[in-house]
Amino acid sequence: MPEYETVIGLEVHVQVKTESKLFCSCPNLYGAEPNTLVCPVCMGFPGVLPSVNREAVRKTVLSGIMCGCEIASYSKFDRKSYFYPDMPKNYQISQFDLPLCSGGKVFISGKGFSGTPLAGRHIGITRIHLEEDVGKSIHFSGFSGIDFNRAGVPLMEIVSEPDMRSADEAYAYLTALKEVMQYGGTSECDMEKGQMRCDVNVSLRVRGQKEFGTKIEIKNLNSFRAVHRSLVFEMERQEKILASGGKLSQETRAWNDDDGYTFLLRSKESSHDYRYFPDPDLMPMEFIPQEIEEFRKEIPELPQSKRKRFVEQFSLAEYDAEVLTADRALADYFEKGAVNSGQPKILANWIITELLRELGARNLTVPENPVPIESIVELVKLISDGTISGKIAKDVFLDIFETNKTPLQIVKEKGLVQISDDSAIEKLVTKVIEDNPEQLAQYKSGKTAVFQFFIGQVMKLSRGKANPATANRILKEKIEKL
Ligand code: ADP
Ligand code: ZN
Ligand code: MG
Repeated sequence: MPEYETVIGLEVHVQVKTESKLFCSCPNLYGAEPNTLVCPVCMGFPGVLPSVNREAVRKTVLSGIMCGCEIASYSKFDRKSYFYPDMPKNYQISQFDLPLCSGGKVFISGKGFSGTPLAGRHIGITRIHLEEDVGKSIHFSGFSGIDFNRAGVPLMEIVSEPDMRSADEAYAYLTALKEVMQYGGTSECDMEKGQMRCDVNVSLRVRGQKEFGTKIEIKNLNSFRAVHRSLVFEMERQEKILASGGKLSQETRAWNDDDGYTFLLRSKESSHDYRYFPDPDLMPMEFIPQEIEEFRKEIPELPQSKRKRFVEQFSLAEYDAEVLTADRALADYFEKGAVNSGQPKILANWIITELLRELGARNLTVPENPVPIESIVELVKLISDGTISGKIAKDVFLDIFETNKTPLQIVKEKGLVQISDDSAIEKLVTKVIEDNPEQLAQYKSGKTAVFQFFIGQVMKLSRGKANPATANRILKEKIEKL
C-alpha cells in the first residue's frame, strides 16, 4: 500500500474587535436579546448607504502586518451574491480580488493537540480580507428563527497556503493565529462566542508526488478540537478510498461533533457562482506608505519573539516560556515580577504550577486573577531566605487567593515563620525524645530507621514550622550522645 501525505489549508474567520459593526453604528456586542442590535443598514433595507468602519480596517491591516503580509495600497469591497435566509441583503459585502493583506506567514511550534512536539516552521498566509458577518439561524422544534445581531459584524477571513501536513500542525497554526490576534488586540478570538470559526481543506497524495490530490472542504468548525478530530477522521476516510483504488471528487462536507464523522453537504458541481462585483456604494480604500509605517509602529512584541527573549533574559526552559507567553496578560504579569525578583525561574514555576492550577480550579481567566504578582515575588523571597518552608508556602498561597492579604501578613498572623533557631529546635527535640522512650530504646538497639519517626514528631510538634535540616542535625547530635 502506498504511503500517503496529508495536505491541509485553512480558511479562518476571525471577528474583529470593534465597538460597532462594519458598515453601520450598531454595537458589535455578544449576548444581547435577538434582533436588538440592528438598523436598516445591517438589515439590508432598500436605499440605505453603508459607510466603512475605520477601526475595522485599521485592525485588519494591523493583523496583516503582524502576519508579515504585504498591505495593499489600493483595496476595495465587493458584493458576493448568494441566497441564504440569514443574509438579509442576498449579498454579503466582502473582498474579492483586492484584499487588504496578502502573502504573509505564521510561525508554528510547541505541541499539537496530541501533545507531540512539532518542528518549528512557517505556514504561509495567502490573504487576509475584511467582510461582514451574516445573521444566525436558530432552530426550535417546529420552527426556525433568525437573529440579525451578528449581521454586519466585521470579520477577517484569513486564508492559508496548503502548507500544513498533519492535524497537529493545523491545531498549532490555529493556536499561533489566535495568539497573534490576541497580542495585537485585533480580536479576542473567543471561540465560545463564535469569534473564531474555521473551514478546513484537506487532501492526500502519495508521498513523493508533486501534484496535490483532490481536496475536500469541511465547513464551519467552531473549536480547535473539532478541527483536529475532523482532520483525523477525514484523513482515514480518504486513505481508505484511495487505497482501495477509488477516486475522490471535490466536495464540501460537514462535521458531526457528537458522533465524530464528516458527511456530504454538496459536491463541486452544485457550487455557487457568486457573481462578485465591486460594491458601488463603497469607496475604494487607498493607503500611502507613511500610513502603513504608522501602523507598523503600533505592533507589540509578538509571542514568538517574547518566547525567545524570556528564554535568554530569564533563563527559562522553552516549555515554561511557551506557557507564559501563550497569553499576553500572563506574560506581562510574569515579566513585571521577574525583572526585580532576582529568581525568575522559581517565579515562573510558581505561576505555571500553583497559580494556573488554582485559576483553573476556580474557572478564572488571567485578567480575573486576584493574586498580585508582588505577592508571589514576596512568597518566593520568604522561601529563599528561610522564613517559611516550601510546604507552608503552598498553604500561604491558597490563603492569598481567599483573603487578598500579603504573604508576610498571613505568615505573621498565623505564626508560620519557620523555626531555624538552634535553641528552639533543641527544646522540641528534647521533648520528643523524652516522650518516646520506647522508640529511643529501639533506636539504641540498632533500629536506626526510627530516626525518621523522631523527625516526624518534631515537625508535628512545631506544626510544620521546624526547619527540617536544622531538626535533622540537632536530633542526630542529641540522640548519638544518649
Ligand atoms: P477554492 O477555489 O476551492 O476556494 P482555493 O485555491 O481558494 O480553493 O483554496 C482554498 C483553501 O484550500 C486554501 O486555504 C488552500 O490553502 C486550500 N487548498 C487548496 N488546494 C488544496 C489541496 N489540494 N489540499 C488541501 N488544501 C488545499
Ligand atoms: Zn446596523
Ligand atoms: Mg477560494
